[in-house]
Amino acid sequence: MSPSRQTPRREQEYREPGKLSPALASIYSDVLRRNPGETEFHQAVFEVLETLAPVLEARPEYLDTKLVERVCEPERQIMFRVPWQDDSGEIHVNRGFRIEFNSALGPYKGGLRFHPSVNLGIVKFLGFEQVFKNALTGLSIGAGKGGSDFDPKGRSDSEVMRFCQSFMAELHRHLGEHTDVPAGDIGVGGREIGYLFGQYRRLTNRWEAGVLTGKGLEWGGSQVRTEATGYGNVLFTLEMLRARKEDLQGQQVVVSGSGNVAIYTIEKAQALGAHVLTCSDSQGYIVDEKGINLDLLKEIKEGERGRVADYAERRGASARYVTDGRVWDVPCDVALPSATQNELDEDAAWTLVRNGVRAVSEGANMPTTPAAVRVLREAGVAFGPGKAANAGGVATSGLEMRQNAERDSWSFDHTEERLTQIMRDIHTSCHETAERYGFPGDYVAGANIAGLERVADAMLAQGLV
Ligand code: GLU
Repeated sequence: MSPSRQTPRREQEYREPGKLSPALASIYSDVLRRNPGETEFHQAVFEVLETLAPVLEARPEYLDTKLVERVCEPERQIMFRVPWQDDSGEIHVNRGFRIEFNSALGPYKGGLRFHPSVNLGIVKFLGFEQVFKNALTGLSIGAGKGGSDFDPKGRSDSEVMRFCQSFMAELHRHLGEHTDVPAGDIGVGGREIGYLFGQYRRLTNRWEAGVLTGKGLEWGGSQVRTEATGYGNVLFTLEMLRARKEDLQGQQVVVSGSGNVAIYTIEKAQALGAHVLTCSDSQGYIVDEKGINLDLLKEIKEGERGRVADYAERRGASARYVTDGRVWDVPCDVALPSATQNELDEDAAWTLVRNGVRAVSEGANMPTTPAAVRVLREAGVAFGPGKAANAGGVATSGLEMRQNAERDSWSFDHTEERLTQIMRDIHTSCHETAERYGFPGDYVAGANIAGLERVADAMLAQGLV
């Protein structure tokens, strides 16, 4: 379950340049050669390239102008030192990253991840995904991603504040509401955004609300931003089920993770009548036969920054805490991976299929390995790729930027209506694009092609930059 585990050999073998058309194989070989050791980035690029052959046939101008090569190369890559002192006076040196991937559609936009596993390849895979995801939202946002190998777990508030201040002391010169707008991701929530915003404001002497999203509601944040990624993924799942004349009502749902995405996935799934059985963290998972008690989970995770093991202790007989095996062993109709990359592998996919899963939709970024995606697709399971299914988070960030630009703040209901419409539109766009290119029901191809077309057409119009 460790987020940083190695990519298994079988998965590696699955993505070889020879499996692509000659033009795409040559692009992929170049990506491998120029970005050595960046396994997750290679994986994210491969997953997109393997769906692009039909669009390159239909749009030869993309090949002539080396559009795909340009999309695979970030516009700018920033790496910097982040020195800070802990409460005992000891000095630590972390590394900071910001990958400004593509600004054809708007300012670079995407979260910051603080986790010990963060390295260049991980930030680049996340930034690459963001290009397609942000394009799919239909909003004017480009793509970027950043973070640090800093581990906020077990750190005091003042340590986290000092780290955030040091991180922003360098990053601020690269940001701006019209330039680059970070937000949260794993390890970066409301507390960290607050410290980052405070330091940005001090260094620039500007009240520039639109420079960060995920802010507190009293100082420029948007309603629904906290809930948006999880809510959005459930709405996307519902649309996939409806397209098959099915529903979420009464379905058994397995959710992995217990962070922001997982918590609001559980909340929305329960509100729509689903029975959510599980949640997890890097140490183990909970199975609660009565359904996850969200008040208790929120108290432990949001209030106390505790572990899911505490949930089992306090919940009573209905909940079991399991430390061996995988959450995917729990039989379900719908699985919503909401923890981290590569958490659902080929074996897990077979288990889900054997247990009769009908839909899998990614709340996390790239949680399903390529071989697992293939198993699910071949078994006819509705599969929602993260770049479409979890786009509700960044879309609501886009709505936060819009409110900031107008110095306005919308009600919860109005913002949720906008989010719901955006998720429906993303579903329609993936569904229709997949049909148009001859892959009905294939949301992976639909999301990749629809995302690429939007960003590529903007790049074509703007010339060779
Ligand atoms: N980190 C989130 C994502 O993966 C949100 C980014 C944002 O709101 O800018 O899309």
